[in-house]
Amino acid sequence: MKIRDKVLIIEDDQRICNFMSSVLESHDYDAKIAHTASDAEAMILSHCPDLIVLDLGLPDKDGLEILENLRKWSSLPVVVVSARSHENDKVQALDLGADDYITKPFGTEEFLARIRTALRHTRTALGDNEVARKGIYAVGDLTIDYNKHQVLINGENAKLTHSEFRIMALLGKYAGKVLTYDFIIKELWGPRAGDNNQILRVNMANIRRKIEENPAQPKYVFTEAGVGYRLAEGDDL
Ligand code: CA
Repeated sequence: MKIRDKVLIIEDDQRICNFMSSVLESHDYDAKIAHTASDAEAMILSHCPDLIVLDLGLPDKDGLEILENLRKWSSLPVVVVSARSHENDKVQALDLGADDYITKPFGTEEFLARIRTALRHTRTALGDNEVARKGIYAVGDLTIDYNKHQVLINGENAKLTHSEFRIMALLGKYAGKVLTYDFIIKELWGPRAGDNNQILRVNMANIRRKIEENPAQPKYVFTEAGVGYRLAEGDDL
């Protein structure tokens, strides 16, 4: 018998719970539901889920608090789902260790894709993932060659600068995941680099000019407005 991945849905809205759990069940996941933060915290311990889908607006506690507590002892993947469209909440959730973020309303395909990605990332713990093994990340016509420090489009060197390559290398390491501006800047330019996004935006504009057919409608590097960037995975193309 195939072992199904266990997903704990933490959400107080019954209608949304029903939607998510029927989507998950019909795609071979084992879905459980918690309507309150206190139920959720008990079920995380009793059910040992493989992934958590977390609503931020719960009756008894802010979902961010659950996330913060969880991250003290667990790296269990968490996909935050919320009606809040404020960029600050997304950034806060990602910086607190959420693996991904979806804003309501969302479609079935997007929901499933985010869950697949979050599960895959935990399974292929960094260091043992494909990128590390082969020294290459490839999606569509784009290839990031970590040994040669090159990004190729259709096998041709896109001639990125050193900084541009480092940004792509980082996005490739976490392909499919949203990386916040802050995270990228700190990883690349150190903790004292501040929160000046300008240098990142300029670099990204140059990267897009070199790798995207139509930089205004990127196929490879997506902007999550006000939050950060995400590199496409196979599922996106
Ligand atoms: Ca809610």
